[in-house]
Amino acid sequence: MRLAAPPPDNEPAGHLNVFLGALRNNGQVCGTDWPIVMDNGCCVATVLAPAADSLDERYHGTYVRKCIAEARQVGITFACSPIGPACDCADACACANPSAYVLFTTFLTLESPVRCMDCFGPVPLYPFTARPNADFHDVISWQSDYQSCDHLQMNCTVLERAATRQMSVIDSALAAAGRACCARLSELAGKPFYYYLYRDKGRSAAREAQRRCPACDGPWHLPATLHGCFDLRCDNCRLLSNLAFNLRRPNDDSR
Ligand SMILES: [Zn+2]
Ligand SMILES: [Zn+2]
Repeated sequence: MRLAAPPPDNEPAGHLNVFLGALRNNGQVCGTDWPIVMDNGCCVATVLAPAADSLDERYHGTYVRKCIAEARQVGITFACSPIGPACDCADACACANPSAYVLFTTFLTLESPVRCMDCFGPVPLYPFTARPNADFHDVISWQSDYQSCDHLQMNCTVLERAATRQMSVIDSALAAAGRACCARLSELAGKPFYYYLYRDKGRSAAREAQRRCPACDGPWHLPATLHGCFDLRCDNCRLLSNLAFNLRRPNDDSR
């Protein structure tokens, strides 16, 4: 997706940056990598969008509309045109009526942090329609925090244990923020939203088999691994987890 903001005066790059930030917080643009270049007198950014029509006006929320109006006042207009499908992203969910969703991301993920529980395809945020004068800043912040923790635990050098703990335990600040996002999105969608608790290492397979839901202490082992990642699910508490990666069979980890 190319976004152009002519003409090259009145700080168009600044307005384009603010506009892209508003689109990101509304789920219409993914990630934060959007180098801005000059092309034929226009500021142009190449961005990743969840779908070919993600930048349609009908999906704009309060803040996106505000950015457009403010830019227009100084003679700047935004135009966009799709380039083509992204080559390295998971296939978007095409289910007509997903039964539930899960908040899920990793340090490698570029797509929306909302996944369909039925097909595990990414689902854009904007169709959930934030209330007036709101956006999905909380969800985008959670995604950014989660990815930061995942980076730290993958790199194994700085704050590895602390980062892993944030991703793994239910009473961490990261889990609390993520579960609050799930509750708000669930209210907007009228569907269950699940939160995933990462499980890195376990002491033994026997102890792993005895794990209980950390919120209600109920049984939560699934009969089979779901979407190559989830082995445990509590439908009461809307939580998901995996069997410890160090105790899984070699081919189990398709994460
Ligand atoms: Zn789906
Ligand atoms: Zn539970």
